[in-house]
Amino acid sequence: MTCLSDSFQRPINYLRISVTDRCNLRCVYCMPDHGIALLPHGEILRYEEVLRVARAAAALGINKLRVTGGEPLVRSDLTELVRMLSAVDGIDDIALTTNGVLLRQHAMALKEAGLKRVNVSLDTLDRDRYGRITRCGRLDDVLDGIDAAKDAGLEPVKLNVVVMKGINDDEVLEFARLTMDEGWHVRFIELMPFDSDAHLSPVPTSEIRERLLALGPLEPCLHSHGNGPAKYFRFPQARGTVGFISPLTEHFCFNCNRLRLTADGKLRPCLLSDYEVDLKSPLRNGASLDELMELIRQAAAAKPRGHQLAAGVHPESRAMRQIGG
Ligand code: SAM
Repeated sequence: MTCLSDSFQRPINYLRISVTDRCNLRCVYCMPDHGIALLPHGEILRYEEVLRVARAAAALGINKLRVTGGEPLVRSDLTELVRMLSAVDGIDDIALTTNGVLLRQHAMALKEAGLKRVNVSLDTLDRDRYGRITRCGRLDDVLDGIDAAKDAGLEPVKLNVVVMKGINDDEVLEFARLTMDEGWHVRFIELMPFDSDAHLSPVPTSEIRERLLALGPLEPCLHSHGNGPAKYFRFPQARGTVGFISPLTEHFCFNCNRLRLTADGKLRPCLLSDYEVDLKSPLRNGASLDELMELIRQAAAAKPRGHQLAAGVHPESRAMRQIGG
């Protein structure tokens, strides 16, 4: 098997697959509150098409997949897709990123279908605030979903917390305490500038770390359980970990190992750059496995050295929910 790498010799072994641009929440930093343009159903890749991309990716050495969205659990029969993907030769890790609202219903079946782990987005532990941030969600559904994921063995469950100044940054200590009291794995994410969040401000990782000192020293985790952008730490004696994802202040592009497939079949080499390679038309025009592999190589070769946020270059063609994070 070949090993896919980009023009900067970064190995590419991870594909994020967005299965829908629909979501059952309307998070203030991810979605506009009205006038959401959705992809027509016919534009969204069918599961057999996703499977063909996964096979081509696996033939190039990609062995890790993450299913995302929109909200992946609003797509019907997602369990079936997971089952199909987990049977692909060469794929040894499939994870899911979800808002957790529908996890209770699906956790066990997903596990049986081959899903290994879940990341759950949860930006507040306060019921009212959860309703305001998501514009329509119920915190209890998510907490129940997290329990269901743990019961199903989809572990470690990692919680993604996007930290926003004046919105939820007063909760970082409470989240961090859960790594000690409940063994949770909490990852604080710097808010990235996408269209719908123009009125929101990020909190730099350094500031969050400073605040967490109130709970004790954070020790780096030597065996972090991640292959992604987070840096993991632990309070002494804590079962859980604190992770930081800092695309703005400590970017990790030099380590980037991923490609992203959008729900409408575009392969995106970099989350924060608008360049995409179209796979949908070739898929629908009967492209062979070799042809798909060549297009994936082309996308990998086009990965930029790093994002250009510091120079004021923001992604413009898509919102986060259309890429999948
Ligand atoms: N619906 C799923 C969920 O809520 O996890 C998957 C899609 S969501 C777009 C994936 C991740 O992107 C979530 O953890 C979400 O918090 C994060 N996200 C969305 N917009 C973001 C932004 N502007 N900056 C940083 N993270 C963002």
